[in-house]
Amino acid sequence: MSAFSLPALPFDEKLIYINGKWTPSLATAIHDVENPDTGDVIAVVPECNAQDLDNAVQAAYNAFHDGPWVNEYSGAERRDALIAVADAIEEHRAELELIESINTGKPISDMHVEVDDTIDLFRHFAGYADKVEGRHIGHQTNQTIEGYTVKVPVGVVGFINAFNYPLNLLGWKVAPALAAGCTIVFKPGPQTPLTTLYFAYLLEKTGKFPPGVFNVVTGGTEVGQALVDHDLIDKVGFTGSVATGKKVIRSTASTQNVRTTSVELGGKSPGVVMPDADLDKTAQLVVSGCMANAGMNCNALTRLWVHRDIYDAFLPKLKAAAENIVLGTPQEETTAMGPVIDRRQFDRVMEYIRIGKEEDKAELMTGGERAFDRGYWIKPTLFVNVDPKARIATEEIFGPVLSVLKPFGSLDEVIAIERRNEFGLAAGIFSRNHQDIAKFTRKLRNGTIWVNTFNALFSYLPFGGFRNSGFGRELGYESFDGYLVPKAIIDDVSY
Ligand code: NAD
Repeated sequence: MSAFSLPALPFDEKLIYINGKWTPSLATAIHDVENPDTGDVIAVVPECNAQDLDNAVQAAYNAFHDGPWVNEYSGAERRDALIAVADAIEEHRAELELIESINTGKPISDMHVEVDDTIDLFRHFAGYADKVEGRHIGHQTNQTIEGYTVKVPVGVVGFINAFNYPLNLLGWKVAPALAAGCTIVFKPGPQTPLTTLYFAYLLEKTGKFPPGVFNVVTGGTEVGQALVDHDLIDKVGFTGSVATGKKVIRSTASTQNVRTTSVELGGKSPGVVMPDADLDKTAQLVVSGCMANAGMNCNALTRLWVHRDIYDAFLPKLKAAAENIVLGTPQEETTAMGPVIDRRQFDRVMEYIRIGKEEDKAELMTGGERAFDRGYWIKPTLFVNVDPKARIATEEIFGPVLSVLKPFGSLDEVIAIERRNEFGLAAGIFSRNHQDIAKFTRKLRNGTIWVNTFNALFSYLPFGGFRNSGFGRELGYESFDGYLVPKAIIDDVSY
């Protein structure tokens, strides 16, 4: 039992949100929602089925084609609606932070930042809602032809979210899609649905969104698959693992109407510590780059290259930084790292720790075992002298496990190896040498490259992957543009 309990929810979590109403699911199945700190069940939500999904899609479809959101509202009215959402989140931030911290095991101090970021997302994308622009390209071949483009919303967007940043990733998806004038069916990760439902309550409370603009269905594979298979969906926005992402791509290509798909998938992000790096600062940045969110972070720094000239001096600093991370009840302000999300993830991470020790023959420097005798806690874990081809150095673990690779001598060799990394989500370099930094940032094909920092993301900069980390971009103007399609208008003015 935790000393902190879920606040009373202002909606019935056994209902789903469709067409502006809290509605009973047509499925009889429910699933438990846990507190990963303790393993206790804190709520139950419906395990929605294909019929629930169809109702949600029909509502979003009708709202898109016949409702006022797309057909009557101006960009400025949509802008103001998004600002109202930001204000509602701000007003209810304490409830959102506590609910998400209890449901995910995230430290409450991380939730302060994630809620700040989510508010900023809605304000940032509100600013695009009244700036949808086309191009005038008239008189190119013929004086009588006016040719121009108008950008229109892509349509009904079906979102499928991962469990690891339920509120923040919702903002990444929903804010630009609403700003562009789309309507939405949203499915949260099955483990962490509560702040998505709370968000629906807040959106409704603003009174600025007509019925059907935003709909939520809860559940897992069945309803997720029904969403990607539904013919009235115009775009699928997916965040999750490579295996599920590939299924989603295959499914969306098999539906009667092909549609745009954006898939944000896994990562195995490298970091490189050059000989001129500030070792104390870098040790802290590397450890937080890997262990933030208990390592359940798509862009987590999980394979670390350390130059041979500083290898022996750097490792004790890294070990100390990992061992100093404060684990404890996530709702205490002093806690810096929480548990992993559930039993399945706990078992998966512990299996990788076994693989590291027994199959990869890597040297365990610290951690490698459960913390506390409750919930799903794993100590920050460092392996050193790891072969760059070892399983723990190449496969996404999604837990607090860092592989420090065998020492390197040449940045060119590191770049050559990293270009063949299956994933291309992010990378980082710690150095003051501008030539090395320029070489690294120019030659690597990764969606985000951090220099002397790690994990920092902003509403205005795009985020997404290369290779198996997926395609499409979240955040930035690029994500907003991804919810618009151009129409060409050709007008013969001599008629
Ligand atoms: P997952 O693939 O298990 O599930 C993701 C979502 O897909 C869930 O909502 C799940 O219910 C749904 N789903 C499952 N089967 C489906 C199907 N057949 N059709 C449609 N939907 C289906 O991933 P997860 O464990 O929730 O999340 C962890 C993964 O997400 C990691 O690989 C992580 O790197 C990735 N991730 C990527 C980003 C990014 O921006 N690139 C961000 C966060 C997480």
